[in-house]
Amino acid sequence: MNEYDSDKMSDLMQSVNFIRSETLADVDCIIFNTCHIREKATEKVYSDIGKIKKLNRSKKKPIFVLAGCIAQAQGEEIFRRTNYVDLIVGPQSYHRLPELIKNFSERRENYSETNFELIEKFDTLDNLKFSRKSKISEFLTIQEGCDKFCSFCVVPYTRGAEFSRSFSSIINEAKKLSDNGVKEIVLLGQNVSAYKFVDGNKSYNLAKLINEIAKINSIHRIRFTTSHPNDMDQELIEAFKYQKKLMPQLHLPIQSGSNKILKFMNRKHTREYYLDLIAKFKEANSEIEFSSDFIIGFPGETEEDFQCTLDIINKVNFINSYSFIYSQRPGTPAVDRDQISLDICKDRLLRLQNLLGDIQLKNSKRLIGKKTQILIENKTKNPDQFFGRSKFMHPTFFNSQNCNPGDLVDIEISSCNSKNLFGVLHKKTEEAFA
Ligand code: SF4
Repeated sequence: MNEYDSDKMSDLMQSVNFIRSETLADVDCIIFNTCHIREKATEKVYSDIGKIKKLNRSKKKPIFVLAGCIAQAQGEEIFRRTNYVDLIVGPQSYHRLPELIKNFSERRENYSETNFELIEKFDTLDNLKFSRKSKISEFLTIQEGCDKFCSFCVVPYTRGAEFSRSFSSIINEAKKLSDNGVKEIVLLGQNVSAYKFVDGNKSYNLAKLINEIAKINSIHRIRFTTSHPNDMDQELIEAFKYQKKLMPQLHLPIQSGSNKILKFMNRKHTREYYLDLIAKFKEANSEIEFSSDFIIGFPGETEEDFQCTLDIINKVNFINSYSFIYSQRPGTPAVDRDQISLDICKDRLLRLQNLLGDIQLKNSKRLIGKKTQILIENKTKNPDQFFGRSKFMHPTFFNSQNCNPGDLVDIEISSCNSKNLFGVLHKKTEEAFA
């Protein structure tokens, strides 16, 4: 979502005649868009501010804006810790950047803007022109914030309560993206499956949104991320059966395979519920594959709890996943629990990542000799080599002299490594869904 927000910030600044710079030399303004989800990201911000300070020592100081979730959560502390930051702008008020920068240029007074102004934000973004050429696959935010309050997570505090953007404004942005050459749209939200928009007597959910976007001819593929298992309704499950533009790959975080830890995490679901949900998706579409997120070393996690997580990985056969050691986030309930030693956490993370890696490689090897459809995203630096992704998000490389980014092609997979597939062009797909 920060990637999407950063592009929108760039569009906003270009609308008031700033030009995006490729270097940090001689810039008038620097905006850091920050993430607060893990402690490392916060520390990196302070170290990067230090580097920028050094770089610009002999020049006129640019206006420095700290945006995003760290700005939201720690604005006052940042003003105290460094005198380099001029403006603090939270993730729900960045649409005011041009006005705030103009005010600062005139008055030279530090200012912090951390209100939750989502309706106003999306109204402003709706009227923005894209300032850059779109990629083949682009993000589109449909929902922000979260009401789940998992005990490790800062999102409900930094992004606020769940808010769904209006149905018509999302469709308009999807059409603008398609006019700009986009072929795949990834619908974004902190809890995207909680999308719900009511307009008079009409009510829209994620499945309806997907079906409406699918009507845009030149959009070949639709994905969404990230979902909470408790918000997957039957209509969405069914969409994987009949909506051919919805890719059969679902990122469905579970975080832990132990019911005891899931309870400590306040996830509000059990491993049995999760496995049952996976079975329902498989029943709707036997082709569907899953990826997930795992937190290792959550306070209270015993070796037995950890084994439950390994067990669920084996049962679901995830094709790809993200895994991290638990990171204490200030202000969240889990901070006050007894923490697990770093050595134990590192050992468990290594074992878990080895298992995920082995499963991923085994799954990729099964594709060797088979044909798989790829959406080409770009040309690589190697002559005639293209990069694209399979329906299941596998990064795939192949050579061709007559393909273009945006083409759908059938590739015969000839080899793989732990992350990538390599193949030979079989044919261009005439009809996207032939
Ligand atoms: S559902 Fe996701 S975003 Fe919401 S609190 Fe839990 S981890 Fe955070």
